[in-house]
Amino acid sequence: MQINSNRALWRTYLFVVGFSCLVAGAFLYLKWFEIKQTAVLQQTYANKLISKSIDNYLDKQASFLELLGERVLRQLTLNQHANVQSELDMLLASNSELAGFIILDDKGNPLVFSSNFSSPSQYARLNEFIKPATKSALSSQDKEAGLMIGRTFYLSEMDKWLIPIQFSITNELNESVADIILAINLDRLNQNWLGSSLPDYQKYLLLREDLYRQYGTFFQSDKYPQRYPEAFSVEHFYYLAELMTLQTGFSLEELKAGELVVTFSGVDAEDTPYLLTVNFNPKYRLFSVLGIPFEELYMEMMPAISWMLVFLAVFNAGLFWLFRRNIRTELSAKHALHYQVEHDPLTQLPNRRYLVSHFKEWSAEQGGEFSMLYMDLKNFKHCNDVHGHSMGDKILCIVSKRLAHFFDKCLCVRQGGDEFIVLSPVTNDDAIRLRCLEFLKDLEKTIVIENLNFSIYATVGIAIAPYDGATLDELLRKADMAMYEAKRKQQNVSLYSDDLETRTRQVSEIESELSHALKNNEFSVVYQPQVDAYSYQVLGIEALIRWNNPKIGFVPPDLFIPVAEANGLIHEIGHFVMETAMIDAQEIYQASGFSYKLRLSVNVSVSQLFNDDFVEHIESLLNRYQNQPITFMVEVTESLFIDDLLRAKNILLRAKQAGIYISLDDFGTGYSSLSVLSKLPINELKIDRSFVNDILTDEHDWLLAKSIINLCKSLSIPVVAEGVETKAQADRLAAHGCDIFQGYYFARPLPKAELIDFLKEKGGGRRDLI
Ligand code: C2E
Ligand code: CA
Ligand code: CA
Repeated sequence: MQINSNRALWRTYLFVVGFSCLVAGAFLYLKWFEIKQTAVLQQTYANKLISKSIDNYLDKQASFLELLGERVLRQLTLNQHANVQSELDMLLASNSELAGFIILDDKGNPLVFSSNFSSPSQYARLNEFIKPATKSALSSQDKEAGLMIGRTFYLSEMDKWLIPIQFSITNELNESVADIILAINLDRLNQNWLGSSLPDYQKYLLLREDLYRQYGTFFQSDKYPQRYPEAFSVEHFYYLAELMTLQTGFSLEELKAGELVVTFSGVDAEDTPYLLTVNFNPKYRLFSVLGIPFEELYMEMMPAISWMLVFLAVFNAGLFWLFRRNIRTELSAKHALHYQVEHDPLTQLPNRRYLVSHFKEWSAEQGGEFSMLYMDLKNFKHCNDVHGHSMGDKILCIVSKRLAHFFDKCLCVRQGGDEFIVLSPVTNDDAIRLRCLEFLKDLEKTIVIENLNFSIYATVGIAIAPYDGATLDELLRKADMAMYEAKRKQQNVSLYSDDLETRTRQVSEIESELSHALKNNEFSVVYQPQVDAYSYQVLGIEALIRWNNPKIGFVPPDLFIPVAEANGLIHEIGHFVMETAMIDAQEIYQASGFSYKLRLSVNVSVSQLFNDDFVEHIESLLNRYQNQPITFMVEVTESLFIDDLLRAKNILLRAKQAGIYISLDDFGTGYSSLSVLSKLPINELKIDRSFVNDILTDEHDWLLAKSIINLCKSLSIPVVAEGVETKAQADRLAAHGCDIFQGYYFARPLPKAELIDFLKEKGGGRRDLI
């Protein structure tokens, strides 16, 4: 969930970054478009200006040469050659642009020349560079203009690069009578031809139609020998013309018509890209080419690009920071929320939810082998009730701290209330049991809160993975089961075992079947005789309940009585036993011809005894069967004194007053000290059958049995030995002063009818013990 929403946020971030780049790109494109457009406009304008100024210059030279020619011709007719020459020399001196004059007759023979051209070779060379122009196809145009331009050439005698121009002087009949040739100093042309100086990077080329370079602003003087005497590459020229047509749609012919100024992208001989603006002067047959290297335009883009990059970097870094901060706060908020959801707010321990979501991961980390401890605090509810919940909270916090501290390599979870769960990597039965006992000892250390001392006790159930289960539910169920088993056995720690499971299943089955057993008449009562230890005469009977369920069969009382106690059914069951026994006892008494009072013993469990109407109920029962020859006795187990001695004593006193006799059953199995006995209103004591069973084999048991008998003698309480199975046992006990026997040696618990038969056979007897 977390990762997904982060992804979504980062995706948004990337989208914004992408979008910002797109906007930046669009901006840069527009900027580029603008720069290029400006360059196109500027270059178009400049090209027009330059070509116009060259055109004007040439026209001006034409007029000048025409005037000069007329005057010179006149003077020549008057044979004033010397005058002409000195005039020409004067013109040269006054204008450094002009490099020399030659005047030719109609046959092409020199008539006059400026004195600097005195050598014939100079003349010849000059003429040579004029001639190709004369011969060229464009001569008709030149003729119209009256002016011809020759190729730029080097005159070694003068050590100068010159442009020769020739003007024909005509008579009234428009016949050429002479030619005047003027050589122009190439290096002096800039000012006149360009109007103003061009920026360094912008290059101008005046290209003749025959592809010889007439004039270029960008040629270094040392490169003139490669530039001017050699023609422009024809291939490259047509390649550029093709590019022009492709980009502008105009053909070379259309360009040559003279109206167009076109701009397109091309390359120079070195393949350097240029923005080229071209037009053509049809009068003088010259291409005027102006170019800016694209690099220059790129340089103009540089500030925009740099700013844009800075902007993008700053914007995106800022954005990144914002997003990251957002994601972090969101993450930490989610973390906090997650933490809250998965932790107990009071103890800060992980809670049940945490356990559920992290169990698999934890289990995998341990390779599936670990133990689960289920811990329940003892008497915590009582503590809460007596000292208030805030005190309870404080105790829970301390318990949690001790737990987390002790089981520091484990996962400690507050399951809820006063229940805790620990997942520990220890899997050895004994080791984990020992760990738990150590912890419980640690837990018991006195806690002082608000000047009150507390000792905390707990019960722990243990289940071990993978033997007892692998899933959380199964382990929880089994550890919980083990915990209840520990409580039941009044132990501190108990490990889960499979019989526990069987028993638990049995218990739940018993529980469900028990609920309707009484209604379905599934219970019956049997009676086991109790005999005089010396005469073996029957003195009384103990009523014992039997349960036969159609589904689960015979269930011994040891199994279902605790269940009935737990779910409260014991009261109804107890009433049933007492009523039945009371009625049966009448019949037994009469049918067997008893001549003395019959003792009827009925078992009652602790919860029956502590029930409010316990004494009243028996009282009313006894009232109903008043004057019957029956001594009614309840058997209570010793364990009840552990919990609440005073309360038990009060009830027993009331019972005694109501004429009920009290027998202390299962003596020796509990924890009560013998001295307690003297303080209780007891009519009889029954040595537990587990001791009787072993009196012949186990010295310790015999000693215990003996001391019980002795004690009873000293207190004048009759002693019953139950579970007497052999004559030897009976003899030994009788020899030591035991009063009454009960056991299979004499009789098994018998149904009413069988008991009657048994009694008839034996005959009643009498011995007043009570
Ligand atoms: P308990 O009160 O100690 O009852 C005596 C038990 O010992 C009876 O078991 C009886 O059958 C058995 N027993 C008698 N003589 C011998 C012997 O020689 N050898 C051996 N091995 N056993 C002998 P039972 O009937 O299964 O009763 C078990 C327990 O269930 C009783 O122990 C008593 O605590 C409880 N119980 C039985 N009936 C009732 C009842 O109606 N109400 C209550 N609350 N508890 C009852
Ligand atoms: Ca009993
Ligand atoms: Ca007993």
